[in-house]
Amino acid sequence: MEDIKLAFLGTGSAIPTKKHNHVAILASFADENLLFDCGEGTQRQFRYAEISATKITKIFITHWHGDHILGLPGLFQTLAMSNYSRTLHIYGPRGTRRFIQLIQELIFDFHINLEVHEISSGTVLETRDYKVEAAEMSHGTPTLAYSLILKDKIRLNKAKIKKLKLPNSPILKELQQGKDITVNGKKIKAKSVVYVEKGKKVTFVLDTSYNERAVELAKDSDILVTECSFSKEDADKAREYRHLTSEDAAKIAKLSKSKKLLLTHLSFRYEHNPHLIEKEAKRIFKNTKVVNDLDALVI
Ligand SMILES: [Zn+2]
Ligand SMILES: [Zn+2]
Repeated sequence: MEDIKLAFLGTGSAIPTKKHNHVAILASFADENLLFDCGEGTQRQFRYAEISATKITKIFITHWHGDHILGLPGLFQTLAMSNYSRTLHIYGPRGTRRFIQLIQELIFDFHINLEVHEISSGTVLETRDYKVEAAEMSHGTPTLAYSLILKDKIRLNKAKIKKLKLPNSPILKELQQGKDITVNGKKIKAKSVVYVEKGKKVTFVLDTSYNERAVELAKDSDILVTECSFSKEDADKAREYRHLTSEDAAKIAKLSKSKKLLLTHLSFRYEHNPHLIEKEAKRIFKNTKVVNDLDALVI
């Protein structure tokens, strides 16, 4: 199974700090480079991460609050100046089409092809190898959370194929597709010569207050990335601004049976004490870590 590389380009919250830029996460696998949110300054974060922004194939917007999208105009302009030649697909909640239109009007000399997909919950993109699912969150404005799922792959057990002396012919493909075959009068069951290579799942739950749909979407994630704007001590503020506390995030990880929780989007008030947030979350879900700008991870 191929790797998914996650690059945390920005891990800050509504107000950026010296160390934390606004939110942007790049998920790379095979020929795809999916960007989840694009806060102000994201194109510069690409430079720091030494990744070319022209590699982006699709952008997924969680919601249209400034800290998640103000990097788009600059990024588009740079892509245009870099002769970006593919069609850039942009997925986002209700309103996305109108906002993209506004950005296009704003930018002088705009020469990239955009295709906007205004989406709601469910499977929003599916190819042979992967899919992206979305669920609606609660944040006072249309907001989506996303799961990136690399599908299970059926592989041939090469040792068994060799042992059975099966020729390298279309029959192997049939076996791989689950069809039983007969060779020289001998029946071979597909089940006996194939195995399943488990896929991978990464879920991004950015701004939202706690809700069951996030748990459902994140079910069995290898990696769950959530916002965590507040400490449990500031739960009243989290409720007022419709954000997650450390305990909310950990609860989503635990109930969804995710394997690892990564916390991002901490409020600037915890700039000097992110450990407090991590400690609170760890009490409920042990495998938790607060991520920082330019952290990278291979799944
Ligand atoms: Zn935010
Ligand atoms: Zn927000």
